[in-house]
Amino acid sequence: MNNIELWQSVLAQMQFHISKANFATWFQNTEIISKDNEKIIISVPNAFSKEWLSNKYNKLILKTLHDIDDSIKELDFVIKPQTARGVQLKAAPGGYSESEKQEDPQLKFEEFKINKETNLNPRYMFTNFVVGSFNELAHAAALAVADNPGFTYNPLFIYGGTGLGKTHLIQAIGNKIGEDSKKRKVKYISSEKFVSSIVSAIRTNTMEVFKASLAPIDVLILDDIQFIAGKNKSQEEFFHVFNSLYEKNKQIILSSDRPPNAIAELEDRLRSRFEGGMIADVSLPDYETRLVILKTKLQEKNADLPEDILDYIAANVKKNIRELEGALNKILIYNKINQELNIETAKKLLKGFVFSPFDIANYKKIIETVAKFYNLEEKNLFDPTRRKEIVKPRQIAMFLLRRELKYSFPAIARKFGGKDHTTAIYAYKKIMQENEENNKLTEELNLIKQRIYSA
Ligand code: ADP
Ligand code: MG
Repeated sequence: MNNIELWQSVLAQMQFHISKANFATWFQNTEIISKDNEKIIISVPNAFSKEWLSNKYNKLILKTLHDIDDSIKELDFVIKPQTARGVQLKAAPGGYSESEKQEDPQLKFEEFKINKETNLNPRYMFTNFVVGSFNELAHAAALAVADNPGFTYNPLFIYGGTGLGKTHLIQAIGNKIGEDSKKRKVKYISSEKFVSSIVSAIRTNTMEVFKASLAPIDVLILDDIQFIAGKNKSQEEFFHVFNSLYEKNKQIILSSDRPPNAIAELEDRLRSRFEGGMIADVSLPDYETRLVILKTKLQEKNADLPEDILDYIAANVKKNIRELEGALNKILIYNKINQELNIETAKKLLKGFVFSPFDIANYKKIIETVAKFYNLEEKNLFDPTRRKEIVKPRQIAMFLLRRELKYSFPAIARKFGGKDHTTAIYAYKKIMQENEENNKLTEELNLIKQRIYSA
């Protein structure tokens, strides 16, 4: 493995540890410039990057390098302005060097190829989006919107847990619309970015300019809209933006980690707008679908792996699709350097990806997640009150302790301030029964469980 391949492998792993925005910011234009025995030297484009990488990511990068090549024990960063690199590349006689030609296409960083006009990442397409019962409604709705933006479902609201394909799907819509008609103006914006733009427009008194910049958009895609909850000024401005686009039959596409009715601190008028179009969820793929996803990713990367190893990954990496992809990448990288990949080494490599429910769901996690989901403080769950907004979350917490952790009813009762254990039994039965009758509760339980198992 040469330095380019080594660094690409590190980047492939780093992606799974940090957000896309951070990844693009800190790792763009970095490379390994020397490797002698135990020490690796990485060039970075400026002092700012150097500071960040060496202070915040040093350990993680070193660990990742060490996992790939255990002779590596030390890391250093040097500043090498970007232009120097450009010159070097152009100056190389006869085009690309052998090693660059062989560079694996899977490892080229498409994160860096985001379209500046639309903010879309071209790698998110319908053609590489695997469909199964876990996401088929969302997929069908997305296709329908891509075929006839503004006139089928408006808005389209996609929700589900992290790593389940929301961003992929909503960007695929944008990419398809862009392909079909170059004239249509598509814009993808993370809600975090959207809110910060609104906040700064308010501060600098340029709200009209900001709104004018959105006016020509035909398709507005806002990712992770739950982020806007509780931000009143932003909600107000967004409400107006929403209306003005909607009235002109412009397509609005939203994603969220939960359905509109479960976003606390969302203005009612926005909630009803969100509910006015199509709402579809993405959930967890089953084993068969996980296997199909792995095979699709392999094909995309032009790679291959023994069936028993694929089977092991599909059977054991269940948290979400992002993790599934991370696990696959880890194995592929290992396979590339070491020829002797077998199921035992694969198991070792995947330790961090494979959880039994007992490893990650615990008492603290359940209490924390339930409280957060219902926008309560943890201690509220233990308040001796009959207020509806507390009683229900408390019963859900009791239900999950029983269901997920097999706590005994007396143990649950003790946790909740020595209540009579019949209270715990009652809570369990009540939630169980409601779960069967009430779709909204089932939905909430699923989302809470997804979160409990995705820390
Ligand atoms: P979310 O936005 O829900 O957190 P992402 O859309 O970022 O999830 O998906 C995480 C990773 O999993 C991405 O690399 C994405 O390409 C991949 N992925 C998700 N769903 C699918 C799918 N149905 N088929 C193929 N890849 C998928
Ligand atoms: Mg996302």
